[in-house]
Amino acid sequence: MAAAVKPTILILGAGYGGMVTASKIAKQFGHSDANVTLISKHNYHYQTTWLHEPAAGTMDPERTRMPIDSVINTNKIKFVQDEVREIKKEENKVVLKESGDMEYDYLVTALGAVPETFGVGGVFEHAFSKWTVNGVREMKEHIEYLFAKYNNEPEPRDDYLTFIVAGAGFTGMEFIGELSERIPELCESYDVPRNKVKMYVIEAAPTALPGFDPELVEYAMNLLEHRGVEFKINQPISEVNAEGVVLKDGEEIKSQTVVWATGVRGHPVIEESGFEHMRGRVKVELDLRAPGEDNIFIIGDCSLIINEETERPYPPTAQIAMQQAETVAENLHALIKGNELKEFKPDIKGTVASLGGKEAIGVVGNKKLYGSSANFMKKMIDNRYLWILGGAGLMLKRGKNPL
Ligand code: FAD
Ligand code: NAD
Repeated sequence: MAAAVKPTILILGAGYGGMVTASKIAKQFGHSDANVTLISKHNYHYQTTWLHEPAAGTMDPERTRMPIDSVINTNKIKFVQDEVREIKKEENKVVLKESGDMEYDYLVTALGAVPETFGVGGVFEHAFSKWTVNGVREMKEHIEYLFAKYNNEPEPRDDYLTFIVAGAGFTGMEFIGELSERIPELCESYDVPRNKVKMYVIEAAPTALPGFDPELVEYAMNLLEHRGVEFKINQPISEVNAEGVVLKDGEEIKSQTVVWATGVRGHPVIEESGFEHMRGRVKVELDLRAPGEDNIFIIGDCSLIINEETERPYPPTAQIAMQQAETVAENLHALIKGNELKEFKPDIKGTVASLGGKEAIGVVGNKKLYGSSANFMKKMIDNRYLWILGGAGLMLKRGKNPL
């Protein structure tokens, strides 16, 4: 009797969603179940959730990334380093930049997100918006370069030492937390008076961290203001240019460093491949498949799921991406074996944001945390992600000291 042909599964993107899908498949599938290939742009996985730290220079960027074959069993999961250009869903093919077309029986799309500008001009030309390993390296080097340059000009320019963060969401707040913590050290190293440095966080909504616990928002803002950060709340940025930013009310702030953190949209491959989407995110079915597609799962920042309580989309997070990945691994197995698929239900444990040094804020369960207890919790969460990805070994090798 001829052996049954093994189905081919392609996983696109080696971020939280893709890596956890691959590692669960490696553990749960037998050798004869499927041929599985993980495709990603780089031969390393990076911890997107840590990137605000190397961006401000409080962590070595190398700490955020790890070779894929150090985490995934490449005897069971093949890895291809390449850039996904398009998904041809009618032909069950993925178009890759270098290797041409690859066919699949089942597809998991986990390509993450890109910056959202909401139509504000000049972002990609003049602001730093790439939350990737190489993107944050550039931010850090640029900040240090401006400090170095400041004292070497005949007329020191204030805009060299004016730092603007666009958006007081979690990314913006975590980044300014790190930067404000590092400024005293930078001033000392580069012989710059502390009062020459200006830091602004500019937010369109009537509050920083819209939707988050107001008491914790106040705690965070007071702490950051104490470190010299000025908040401009309810003041959308309408343009970024070579000189700095222009606010909706016409005010201009001159700066050579605008860090863009006004939210994300799903990866452009989603739009370019003809999926129905909202800001690049596909509203997936309960089993995480794209509507009308029997063999395409979409997870992480490319997917959109609705919170039944608030009737609004869940914010895209690593927490959700990893939970979706576990369900997708199970659902792929179920599809192959002809079993029923599971519905995905997010289990939101809480939200904790670091604010630099030993400071953080968060809500875990119904408990509010701030200061060192929140900081402890944040590091435990960071370590837990490593545990889910690569078990105790990875956590012990790569984890953070929570104290
Ligand atoms: P990602 O983890 O971004 O992975 C996408 C992968 O696809 C990457 O490996 C990328 O290289 C690859 N890729 C992209 N394009 C292509 C292509 N064309 N071809 C091939 N490969 C490609 N969430 C939390 O839950 N908790 C936090 O504390 C938290 N902190 C954050 C801090 C920062 C600074 C930022 C920016 C985000 C944070 N988030 C946090 C959000 C979280 O990082 C994302 O929701 C999460 O990374 C989404 O996972 P994903 O698998 O969809 O995408
Ligand atoms: P976000 O959508 O959470 O916040 C973006 C902020 O930018 C909003 O407050 C918005 O009002 C503001 N904004 C939009 N347009 C603006 C403009 N023109 N001018 C000024 N402000 C403007 O996005 P984010 O902070 O980039 O986070 C992306 C995702 O990652 C979110 O889902 C977030 O929850 C998640 N995340 C989580 C953590 C954590 O849990 N610790 C950390 C970082 C990011």
